[in-house]
Amino acid sequence: MSEYAELIRRWKEAAILGSCGGVLGWDERTYMPRNGSAHRAEQMALIARLCHEMTTHPKNGEFLTAAETSNPDDDAKANLREIRRAYDRAVKLPPDLVEELARVTTQAQQAWTDARAASDYSKFQPWLEKIVALKRREAAAVGYKDHPYDALLDEFEPGATTASIRALFADLAADLTPLVAALLASPRKPDRGILHRDFPVETQKSFGRMAAETIGFQFDSGRLDVTTHPFCTGLGPGDVRITTRYNPKHFNESFFGVLHECGHAIYEQNLPGEHFGTPLGVAVSLGIHESQSRLWENQVGRGQPFWEFFFPKAQQAFPCLSDVKLDDFLFAINDVQASFIRVEADEATYNLHIILRFELEQAIVSGDLKVADVPGAWNERFRKMFGINPPDDAKGCLQDIHWSFGGLGYFATYTLGNLYAAQFMDRVRQDLGGPQLDDDFRAGRFGRLKEWLTDRIHRHGQRYRAGELCRRVTGRELSHKPFIEYLRTKYEPLYGV
Ligand code: ZN
Repeated sequence: MSEYAELIRRWKEAAILGSCGGVLGWDERTYMPRNGSAHRAEQMALIARLCHEMTTHPKNGEFLTAAETSNPDDDAKANLREIRRAYDRAVKLPPDLVEELARVTTQAQQAWTDARAASDYSKFQPWLEKIVALKRREAAAVGYKDHPYDALLDEFEPGATTASIRALFADLAADLTPLVAALLASPRKPDRGILHRDFPVETQKSFGRMAAETIGFQFDSGRLDVTTHPFCTGLGPGDVRITTRYNPKHFNESFFGVLHECGHAIYEQNLPGEHFGTPLGVAVSLGIHESQSRLWENQVGRGQPFWEFFFPKAQQAFPCLSDVKLDDFLFAINDVQASFIRVEADEATYNLHIILRFELEQAIVSGDLKVADVPGAWNERFRKMFGINPPDDAKGCLQDIHWSFGGLGYFATYTLGNLYAAQFMDRVRQDLGGPQLDDDFRAGRFGRLKEWLTDRIHRHGQRYRAGELCRRVTGRELSHKPFIEYLRTKYEPLYGV
């Protein structure tokens, strides 16, 4: 067997073990009883250690070097480039750190759930202190040029730097802040009450399932379950799972959550299964992943053509909508308002929530902001940005799960996803024809869009890094402009500004 083939065999084996950890992680967040947390932490820590041992095995290093010098073809070149990146990062991490991170973050997730339920930051603070200390050790071990935060960002968005994202976000904020201010100041407001009538959970379940199937989620290769914090996890070919949460007094929470997770899942379900366990079978980055969820949730799912198809069905399923006009419904689901919870924020204000977290995280990681001072710093920034005071930490710094699983550096990818989504959709409309695409949606046909996304993005796995993929797909570098253009086109007429 060639060195390359042997390397791939070993790499796939580690990925199979990793996907076993994925099943346990899914179970932990869906069905595991709460008292199982400590034992699950041991299971996860063992799997994390074994995966790390398998990945960093010295033989891998030898095979990797040999394969790199043996005239690889294009597929192999792409695989070797990304395996080299992952291998070099992994060998820098001490095994005890990897194991400790897995153990601490599994328990911290339980602590976060309790702290958030009680809105009691002191219950989570000691865990966050441990996690921040471990992540600083991780950044020091991995190494960085300018900012320790670079080393953490790189895990989620390979190639991105604190400086490059700061610059992109500064451009975005310069255009976004006045636009949001104008929308918020408009006297025109939708009737939000429409979305807070009675939406029985069982009907939401069947309606959400129908929508998921219609846009292209394959239920014979996936599941939809219930969790506090919705997510999508690709466990391997033919098994991609999404979750949602139901609120019988709010239509948006589950429905748009399902569309969002479906966007992630459609990406995972259309990765080339034959490359499972190698970079060619893995999504490019979290930013690109998020572009797919945002594209389906917002660009498609909050648009008029989509609802010309789905609204009559929604009225049939939910009698409380029978007296509602489509235009009023559309305005209500595109309601822009200053709000506390990121996951419930509208498309326009959403990115301000991200910029707040991006700035705070840099200060936490650098040590400029002590973990004990996070709630105060959060509330102060929030007030400056949105002009309202978070009433408690559950609606403030405890609202997101990310820090509890060690996801410092993760949030920026959400805004990158919004920007990529707008730029991709701009291109889709050029390629497939904007009006024709709208006609597709009006008729409940989403296949052409899905095929375009699979052809340009999904089927390539990690063949291209995010920046290169963006240039190949759209002909340009990532910019905040298509997103701002999209917001203006949609929201200025809605709000009369
Ligand atoms: Zn997402």
